[in-house]
Amino acid sequence: MLTAAQYEESLRRLNLTVYMFGKRIENVVDDPIIRPSMNAVAKTYDLAHQPEHEDIMTATSHLTGNKINRFTHIHQSIEDLVKKSKMGRLLGRETGCCFQRCVGMDTLNALSIVTFNIDRKYGTEYNKRFLKYLEYVQNNDLTCDGAMTDPKGDRGLPPHEQSDADQYLHVVEEKKDGIVVRGAKVHQTGAVNSHEIIVMPTISMREDDRDYAVSFALPSDAEGILYIMGRQSCDTRKLEGQTIDRGNLLFGGHEALVVFDDVFVPWERVFMYREYDFVGQLVEIFAAYHRQSYACKVGVGDVLIGAAQIASDYNGVSKAYHIKDKIVEMNHLNETLYTGCIACASEGHREPSGTYNVDVLLANVHKHNVTRFPYEIARLAQDIAGGLMVTMPSDADLRSPETGKWINKYLRGRSEIPTENRMRILRLIENITLGTAAVGYLTESMHGAGSPQAQRIMISRRMNMQEKERAAKKLTGIVDE
Ligand SMILES: Cc1cc2nc3c(=O)[nH]c(=O)nc-3n(C[C@H](O)[C@H](O)[C@H](O)COP(=O)(O)OP(=O)(O)OC[C@H]3O[C@@H](n4cnc5c(N)ncnc54)[C@H](O)[C@@H]3O)c2cc1C
Ligand code: SF4
Repeated sequence: MLTAAQYEESLRRLNLTVYMFGKRIENVVDDPIIRPSMNAVAKTYDLAHQPEHEDIMTATSHLTGNKINRFTHIHQSIEDLVKKSKMGRLLGRETGCCFQRCVGMDTLNALSIVTFNIDRKYGTEYNKRFLKYLEYVQNNDLTCDGAMTDPKGDRGLPPHEQSDADQYLHVVEEKKDGIVVRGAKVHQTGAVNSHEIIVMPTISMREDDRDYAVSFALPSDAEGILYIMGRQSCDTRKLEGQTIDRGNLLFGGHEALVVFDDVFVPWERVFMYREYDFVGQLVEIFAAYHRQSYACKVGVGDVLIGAAQIASDYNGVSKAYHIKDKIVEMNHLNETLYTGCIACASEGHREPSGTYNVDVLLANVHKHNVTRFPYEIARLAQDIAGGLMVTMPSDADLRSPETGKWINKYLRGRSEIPTENRMRILRLIENITLGTAAVGYLTESMHGAGSPQAQRIMISRRMNMQEKERAAKKLTGIVDE
C-alpha cells in the first residue's frame, strides 16, 4: 500500500494534459487550486497506515491474499459492504469535502459482476481481463476515476440519434490490437488526481446504440485524453494563501471535463464491447454502489453540525432551547442518512461472480434522502450561524493595522472567545454551504450518482407492491378477485 507521500510522488510522474482558466497547467500537483483536492485523496492513503483505522481502511485481496487499501477491494462479504459505508463517513469527517476515490472503487466492483455475467452469456473473456487489470490496480494501490456521465446533448434522444454523434462516447474504429474511442465524460470527480480512468456507458441502450456500449480502462495520461478543470464557487480564494477566508484550509474536491480525442485502447483493457444488452445492468449496479457511497455526506454533515454547535457557543446562544432543538434535528437527519447506507450494505447479497452487492432498493432510498437532507442541514447551519457568515470582512482586513482593531472589537461574540476563532468557524460553514465544498455537499448530493428522478425510477421498479396489496387484502378478508 502506498503512503500519502508515495501517492503524491506517483502523481508527479504522470504526464497529464490539464487546462484551467484558459491555460495549460504544467505542475498539476502543486497548483494551489488543485492541491487541496490532492490532499483529500492522499488522506485515503494516509488513514490506511494508521493502526486505529486499519480495520476500516484496509482489506485482504481475494486475488492475491495481500493486504490492500479498501478503495481497491472487491467486496467479499456483507461485513465488507458495511465497512465501506463506515469508511465513507470517516473520510468525509476527516476532510470535510469530497475525497474522490469512491467512484473508481464502485466502478471496479460493478465491472467485477457485469464482466462475469457477459462472459456467461457470450463465452467472452472480459472477466479474466478485468481480474488481471484489478490485480495491477491492487498491487500498485492506484486511484481510478470512474467515468460514466456523457455530455448527453439532447436528453430526449438516444445516443445514435444525436445530431453530434460524439455526445456519447463511442467506438470510431476497430483495429487488430484494440479500439479507438471518441467523446467526453463530464463532471469527472478527482480526474486529475487519478492514475487510471475507467469508462462506462451512461444510460441503457438498444441495438442501434451498440457502438456506444463500451467499457474500458486507460492510464489517465494516455495519448489523446485531455482535462478541462471545472471551477467552483469561491475557488480563487485558494490563490490567496492560507487565509481563513478559505474555510477549509487543507482539503477540497474537484471535477473536470475529460475529452477523448480519438484515443486507442488495447484489447486487454476493454471490458465491454457492443454488448448493448448489458449496459443497463452495468449502469444499475454501478449506480447502486455509488449511491451507497454517499455515506461521505454523513461525514461532511458531522463537520457542519460540529461547526454550527461551535458557532452558537461563540455567539452565546448554545443553551437556547431552539438552538438545541435545531442541533438535534440536524443530527436526526444526518443519522437517518447513516442508517440508509448501513442498511443497504447490511441487506446486501452475493452475485454469481462472488462479489457482494448492496440492496438496490435501499441504496436508492438512501441516495434519494441525500438529495434532500443535506440541504435542510445546511439551512439549519446557516440559521444558527447568523448573517455574519456572508457579510464578514476578509482575513486581510483582520490583519490590517487600520481595520483589524475594529473587526476584533465589533465582530466578537462572547468576550472570552477570540474574534478570529469566530471568523474561522463561520468561514467553514460558508465553505460547506456556499463555497467550494458546497459543490460536494449540496449539488453533488442532488445530481451525483444520478439526479433524484433516477432514484425514483429505481424505487418504482423495486418496490414490491404485490406483497403490500396482498398484506392489506389478507387483513380485510378480501379473497382473490
Ligand atoms: C459534483 C458532481 C460530481 C460528479 N462526479 C461524477 C463522476 O465522478 N463520474 C461520473 O461519471 N459522473 C459524475 N457526476 C455526474 C452525475 O452522475 C450527473 O450529474 C447526473 O447523472 C445528472 O446528469 P446531468 O448533470 O447531465 O443532468 P441532466 O441530465 O442535465 O439533468 C437535469 C434534469 O433533467 C432531468 N432529465 C435528464 N434527462 C431526462 C430525460 N431523458 N427525461 C426526463 N428528464 C430528464 C433530470 O432528472 C434532472 O432533473 C457528478 C456530478 C456532480 C454534480
Ligand atoms: S461525492 Fe462522496 S462518494 Fe462521490 S467521490 Fe466524493 S466522497 Fe466519494
